[in-house]
Amino acid sequence: MSERKVRVRFAPSPTGPLHIGGVRTALYNYLFAKKNNGDFILRIEDTDQARYVKGAEEYIISALNWCGLEINEGPVKNGSYGPYRQSERKDLYKSYADNLIKSQNAYYAFDTAEDLEEMREMAKKAKMPNWQYNSITRNNMKNSLTLSNEEVEEKLNNGEPYTIRIKMPRNEDVRFHDEIRGWVIVNTNNMDDKVIFKGDGMPTYHLANVVDDYKMKISHVIRGEEWLPSAPLHVLLYKYLNWEDVMPKFAHLPLILKPDGNGKLSKRDGDRLGFPVFPLQWKDPSSGEISSGYKENGYFSEAFVNMLAFLGWNPGNAKELYSIEELINDFSLERVGKSGAKFDPEKTKWFNQQHLRNKSNNELAILMQKGISHETDIAYLEGVAELMKERAVFVNELLEDDYFFSIPENFDEKTFRKKWKENSFEIMNNLKSVFEGDDEFSVSTIESNFKNFLEANSLGMGAVLPCFRLILTGKGMGPSAFAIAALLGKKEVLKRFESKTPFFNELYKEKNKVQ
Ligand code: GLU
Repeated sequence: MSERKVRVRFAPSPTGPLHIGGVRTALYNYLFAKKNNGDFILRIEDTDQARYVKGAEEYIISALNWCGLEINEGPVKNGSYGPYRQSERKDLYKSYADNLIKSQNAYYAFDTAEDLEEMREMAKKAKMPNWQYNSITRNNMKNSLTLSNEEVEEKLNNGEPYTIRIKMPRNEDVRFHDEIRGWVIVNTNNMDDKVIFKGDGMPTYHLANVVDDYKMKISHVIRGEEWLPSAPLHVLLYKYLNWEDVMPKFAHLPLILKPDGNGKLSKRDGDRLGFPVFPLQWKDPSSGEISSGYKENGYFSEAFVNMLAFLGWNPGNAKELYSIEELINDFSLERVGKSGAKFDPEKTKWFNQQHLRNKSNNELAILMQKGISHETDIAYLEGVAELMKERAVFVNELLEDDYFFSIPENFDEKTFRKKWKENSFEIMNNLKSVFEGDDEFSVSTIESNFKNFLEANSLGMGAVLPCFRLILTGKGMGPSAFAIAALLGKKEVLKRFESKTPFFNELYKEKNKVQ
């Protein structure tokens, strides 16, 4: 058999915003598709109308867009296998459920919700708390296996509510090979007769998922570990529908765990520990509650994607910083681990910091411009970026030091108290005169003039530099004062000397009661 074209799908249910675990599933599907010249399909699994949440589909699409996971086919990008929303494929599924009944691999069940509840109660009393509708119990229930053909016909003709259930064989091993976990073998005695078609005319997830994967020619099903228990049922459905030869390969991804490794990462962990669990901000349409998103919190999408890629996968070497193109190149399912991956909010920040450092000053300046209301010279912002980028995790931190944009109003009291002395007024005035004569006013001329000045006056760095910095920035620490001075420019630096030297002098006199 010739190799199948790689076609993978991300198949979320629009029941709310996409959790980072969902984004990682989408990412791995995307990387796998692109690596193998395949197609990445988005399918919206909205058969469960009761759980449908308004705005969730739009959210999913925006989140994929933000991450740069371009879809080849989906609800807003038509392809040859649409429609891509299950609610729009409704008519398709019934015939497959009927086929399964005809081949005696499924049956009608007429038990009401009350009947089922009653059975569960009885079982509980008999100390069998986990009652299931299965190959044994179905013989005592109201279904087309226990009722006569006439009774069944009658019920169907009368429009009595029914479901269609899969007829699990007794004591059979279902085996399939998972690309991540290896061979998985489950005995049908441990499986129940799942409902595959509901009374409301809609298929359940299991049937719709299998039919659509078949119809959409999906080659690989890459999804979260929570679906592993459903996979044997899906394998049986492929068998009963005679699609075994085109059954996709399965790969079940490891869970994303809480930072302490104790259980699955949830929204509550994010709230408790102060990090987002969603890519984009989400406003719950019914409660109005807002959940924060990585985008709005200032993360670069490429840093977010880089971090997610490493939650369960690693390249097998020490390289950690990846662009999406590099991820495509290096990704393989063989290097996805079996065990859960601990989420690390600090490492997420680290990824952002590294991606920020890798950006050119020009790229950063353009982003910084968006964060300030007034038009600022891009070359000037590039200079600020150069001085600040080693200290920043987020773009807004590049703008945190406001002395780059206006004369500082506040100052660091401690530095002032420790470093401003009686003679500082005179020293600063003299230093200003030196700078007045510097026409070039570059980092190196400022620095050499400064050092010559110290030498000529037998002054130490510690006596002069902190006062100079106070005048320029109001701060006790920060990037090189010479570099800041060069960026501010001679005119602005002299202006700050003029206003701040007398200001600090007065303050000194006042505090020390000097006459
Ligand atoms: N609709 C399922 C979900 O919400 C899809 C699972 C699968 O990929 O088969 O995750």
